[in-house]
Amino acid sequence: MEPSEKPKTILPQLAAYAAGETPSKGRQYPEPAPVYRNEYQRDRDRIVHSAAFRRLEYKTQVFVNHEGDLFRTRLTHSIEVAQIARSAARTLGLNEDLIEAISLAHDLGHTPFGHAGQDALNDCMRDYGGFEHNLQSLRVVDLLEEKYAAFNGLNLMFETREGILKHCSRKVAAELGDIGKRFINKQQPGLEAQLANLCDEIAYNNHDVDDGLRSGLIHIEQLRSIELFRDEFETVSAQHKNLTLRRQIHEVIRRMINRQVTDLVNTSWQNIARTAPSTIDDVRRLETPLIRFSEKIHALNLELKRFLRSELYKNHRVYRMSAKAQRLIRDIFDAYINDPQLLPDEYHSRIKNPDHPGLPAQADARKARVIADYIAGMTDRYAIAEHARLFDPKIPGLS
Ligand code: MG
Repeated sequence: MEPSEKPKTILPQLAAYAAGETPSKGRQYPEPAPVYRNEYQRDRDRIVHSAAFRRLEYKTQVFVNHEGDLFRTRLTHSIEVAQIARSAARTLGLNEDLIEAISLAHDLGHTPFGHAGQDALNDCMRDYGGFEHNLQSLRVVDLLEEKYAAFNGLNLMFETREGILKHCSRKVAAELGDIGKRFINKQQPGLEAQLANLCDEIAYNNHDVDDGLRSGLIHIEQLRSIELFRDEFETVSAQHKNLTLRRQIHEVIRRMINRQVTDLVNTSWQNIARTAPSTIDDVRRLETPLIRFSEKIHALNLELKRFLRSELYKNHRVYRMSAKAQRLIRDIFDAYINDPQLLPDEYHSRIKNPDHPGLPAQADARKARVIADYIAGMTDRYAIAEHARLFDPKIPGLS
């Protein structure tokens, strides 16, 4: 390269059916092309620098953040999803930068306290359109981040937003414009979105086994009734005698992940080869997703999920924490609804402004949505502290 030449953006080799920069449905607010990155790298960087991304560190997966330093949080989960998804994407000739952006953003809308928090907030919002964490992730990147001079949100590429919005009711989709159309027309998202979705599933199923064992809430003897676990456990036990329990568990889980990813890549590759889409729009027009597990692994995944649901997520100790978390979210919501002056000024003024972007014009619905946005943005520990500030007379008013 001559010293006077500018460095050029190096684009990965993409298959014809991958999401590229051209054609792309682009950004809502047109911006000059980035100089030293491609458009999806820019999206990834915007996500990493967002406030919502930093808060993932203190948001729960299954275990509440302060229950142990070694359990997954939403942040480590999102990084694991990105790792699995990027490897698989490269093998299939898909856009690694896009899938990394989708993976890192997919949980940005999660409430504190995982699914317990989501259920509680959805219940509080029942008369005002409900609350759904996946839709909230889109709301965070489209509206709630306040970082840029020219627009609200992060102004991400359409393809990144398409990947973030994994599911959506037809009623809600009708209000979302372009990004909601596929749910009305029963079409597919691009392959990066399809792949990120299943890599999310691989990541959480396997790390919940790991965290479940580490917490002592589930045991190896129980897991041996689950084929995915048993197969790898028997191989590892036959090949390696006298392993410590920690190494044995890690060795089994990494093989489980490898088996699932290999199956996903192979099955999807065959589907792609058979269907031979030439563009991302060909992929979108298909009736079914091309990124899929084989029937066999799909069935084994279901078996594992059922096990985790009954033995871990509904375990007495997890359930007790979930019940506590739900009460806490409900208390905070009710306190704000009954007296919006308890909200920080910034949120209180949104309630009073019927023209604030992305909020309902109707006053009660607007108030409820502002409160849901505020609560959804809280970390576990912030929600616990805020509950104490609202209800515990011993906590000083200025804390
Ligand atoms: Mg996830």
